Amino acid sequence: MLFSKMFIPTVKEDPKEAEVISHRLMLRAGFIRRLASGIYTWLPLGLKSLRKVENIIREEMNKKGAQEILMPFVQPKELWEESTRWDKYGKELLRFFDRNNRELCLGPTHEEVVTDLVRREIRSYRELPVNLYQIQTKFRDEIRPRFGVMRGREFLMKDAYSFDVDEEGAEKSYRDMYDAYTNIFKRCGFRFRVVEADTGQIGGSFSHEFMVLADTGEDIIISCDACGYAANLERAEVGYPDTVPHSSKKGYFKKVDTPGQRRIDEVSSFLNVSPGELIKTIIYNTDRGVIGVLIRGDREINETKMRNLLSLDYMELADETTIEDVTGGPLGFSGPIGLKIPLYADRDILYMEDFVVGGNERDVHIINANLGDFTAEGFYDIKIAREGDRCPRCPGTLTSTRGIEVGHIFKLGLKYSKAMKATFLDKNGEERYMVMGCYGIGVSRIVAAAIEQGNDENGMILPAAIAPFEVDVLPVNSSHAESMELAEAIYRQLLEKNIDVIFDDRQERPGVKFKDCDLMGIPLRVTIGERNLKEGLVEIKERDKKESIRVKKEEVVRRVEEYVEELKRW
Ligand SMILES: [Zn+2]
Repeated sequence: MLFSKMFIPTVKEDPKEAEVISHRLMLRAGFIRRLASGIYTWLPLGLKSLRKVENIIREEMNKKGAQEILMPFVQPKELWEESTRWDKYGKELLRFFDRNNRELCLGPTHEEVVTDLVRREIRSYRELPVNLYQIQTKFRDEIRPRFGVMRGREFLMKDAYSFDVDEEGAEKSYRDMYDAYTNIFKRCGFRFRVVEADTGQIGGSFSHEFMVLADTGEDIIISCDACGYAANLERAEVGYPDTVPHSSKKGYFKKVDTPGQRRIDEVSSFLNVSPGELIKTIIYNTDRGVIGVLIRGDREINETKMRNLLSLDYMELADETTIEDVTGGPLGFSGPIGLKIPLYADRDILYMEDFVVGGNERDVHIINANLGDFTAEGFYDIKIAREGDRCPRCPGTLTSTRGIEVGHIFKLGLKYSKAMKATFLDKNGEERYMVMGCYGIGVSRIVAAAIEQGNDENGMILPAAIAPFEVDVLPVNSSHAESMELAEAIYRQLLEKNIDVIFDDRQERPGVKFKDCDLMGIPLRVTIGERNLKEGLVEIKERDKKESIRVKKEEVVRRVEEYVEELKRW
């Protein structure tokens, strides 16, 4: 490709709208342009990277026997009612009416559509297992789209769905996808980690996330170096002490005045105790009614763990009126003693004694409270894990790193096949439900994640497998005929060797060309300069190295070939 003929609208200044590095660089390098909030156009350079990612995904999916299909973007309400998700999905599901007043939505995911397809077409165990996937546009009406294509509303996704005759088959399908994903992210050149994840909106029995490691990542990964345990923060379990819980002293407690002291920091400094000696009592509205959750004052409640513990669909902090109704006191003074609602406590509380709780009346707290002074439904792991906590699997200590979720695999079990009656006839002619799995990759997000993982002050540092070009052939002086001739010859020969090369044939100052090459993250630069040329030499430089090497001009093509091969090895 000739640079002069390509539509690459680069920008010198940092765009104001961009909050993260990948977004800033994708705008500056002319990869994407914003059309509306969370909706982007992919320009030629960005699209080249995107297509390379797609191809890697296709190859690895096909290797595992998955078959590509293409399902519609627009989906009918009826299917979503069958799975009961029409009401549950919330506002991210963009709904609308057609001219015949039929209600439709833009697909945020395709479990319903694919299950409908398979239940209509597959009758017998002989036709199973099957794994169908697509690479297609999705729409999720995010409340706050941000970070460019990292968290857009419209995005490209690879979604796959497996259907098996039994649990054993489903587990094999899951493992196959686990392996395929591992290969995909290795080939993309990522440093990544696989973590246990929550199943969330999709539902199902268990799941793993593939996280690209990047300091700027939105997700927090909790892991243990000693045993290899890793989970995302939502899901991460915590180990608790092995020691025996404290005996349940009773009746020692005493009311104290704490005028205007509501927050943990206020109460602890007012009473001169550490936040860890306090217990917070948080009141929630749930689909099981109003509940109280108890947690040590220096820790936070993990609402995902709470939802899973009680199988809640709905869980929200109670408003002040509800709090006054159930506790008798205002917000900030709730406590477990005398409360008539079900109380769920974090396990930390088992190991506390003589602690401080709210008094359930204005400006009153209780000191010297103990386990015997109230009744909880139980003590559970319901706190948010953090660095330094004990590992749930071994005596090791948990650490925390940041990542970007690029892939997510779910074992769905019978959730959708039961709801939508996707059945088959087994060997004995008996009707049974298909066992499902679903597997997603954020294709557009991968390009952004690669940039978050690889960049410096000059621009992107992209892995060769997904950079828009592998090589930039750059003649320093465009008016120097001999340089231009040699550059073009090298360019032609590299093309013949199937190297993805761009020839910077523009009548531009050298500085502009060098800057653009770095900005676009092209892994290898071949520089043809007048001075080197006098000695018959050409310079080769890797994007992420400071030094360059000089090689004889006759050897350039062979050396570049070797470099590219090495850079794409995984
Ligand atoms: Zn461990």
